[in-house]
Amino acid sequence: MTTHRSIDDTVRIAQAAIERMRADQIPATPENFTVWYHYFGNSYPDLKRTIDILLKAHHSVSAAASAELFDRYFADVNENEAVRDAVARLEDVMKQMAAELNTAGRGAATFGDALADATGALGADTRNAGVLNIVQGIVAATRQMEARSRELERRLDAASSEVVQLKDEVEAMRIEATTDSLTGLANRKRFDARLREEAEDAKDTGEPLSLLMLDLDHFKRFNDNHGHLIGDHVLRLLGEVMQQAVKGRDMAARFGGEEFAIILPATAVVHAKAVGNAIRERIARKTIVNRVTGVELGSITLFIGAAQFRPGEPLTELIGRADAALYRAKNGGRNCVVSEAEGLEPQMAVGG
Ligand code: GH3
Ligand code: MG
Ligand code: MG
Repeated sequence: MTTHRSIDDTVRIAQAAIERMRADQIPATPENFTVWYHYFGNSYPDLKRTIDILLKAHHSVSAAASAELFDRYFADVNENEAVRDAVARLEDVMKQMAAELNTAGRGAATFGDALADATGALGADTRNAGVLNIVQGIVAATRQMEARSRELERRLDAASSEVVQLKDEVEAMRIEATTDSLTGLANRKRFDARLREEAEDAKDTGEPLSLLMLDLDHFKRFNDNHGHLIGDHVLRLLGEVMQQAVKGRDMAARFGGEEFAIILPATAVVHAKAVGNAIRERIARKTIVNRVTGVELGSITLFIGAAQFRPGEPLTELIGRADAALYRAKNGGRNCVVSEAEGLEPQMAVGG
């Protein structure tokens, strides 16, 4: 979850979490630690905001509230995945049963037809009356078997469509659990999973893979001046602009707080930089308007860091380089895009 952090940061966040749990007498369970670690690490904006609201109202969070937060933000996600796997398995079993029933039904029909033909042949000869009787009995039984197998198939079909519906519902739940509720972009969880997948892919195909990290300039000040609701509006606007700027397999995500990220498969860092610049320019050109009062609030800018995956490296390193480029963009005057190659010795540069 927090793979991009330095060891020092991780220790600092863990300490803050433990101190808080001690202060509020929250039992030191892995579940509670997860909640507070992610609160201080700010990796789940929704979780952070919920806790901030609780703290504002009550100055502390009870052990029960902490347990509830775990269930809400972490347990569900794991359960969803378990349910999804179970449904997928159920679907496979049903498909296989349907195929087998269909084959069995067709076998019975063919056998019935063959017997019926034989009955016809036997019927022509009056000396075969006893055998004819037996064969006719078998024909009737076979037809019954055929009918029963068709009925079973029909019922299995109906059950299958219910499973398909269930699968859709589980998929919708999974998407909801991995979507940032404010911007509608992928949340950190989906971002982490996708980055892992794309890195594996890039390693196999040899295609480039780039990462952009985006951060709003002086967003705290913007919130302080105009209020959190207008701040939320800016985050949604950035989400829309990012979504419009990406295509195909690219993924725009909310990384945490006012930080965003874009995964760009099959894209070299120079081209990723161009995508970043297009987003930066579009945001800088917009005038933020208070929708209630109609008052113009000026514009807001963002700074962006870009890095390209080096096959085989841990993802923490890729994120670390994008982060370092992000800070160079901030220190280099903000409202700009900087790639990892810039500021390095030429022989170390990887492009951009
Ligand atoms: P810098 O230019 O150096 O990035 O400074 P900054 O103020 O943008 O960054 P800082 O990390 O100091 O503050 C981030 C701010 O983002 C503070 C926090 O209130 C705001 N923020 C984080 N999540 C949300 C959100 O969901 N809604 C709103 N309105 N603000 C948010
Ligand atoms: Mg920031
Ligand atoms: Mg910022």
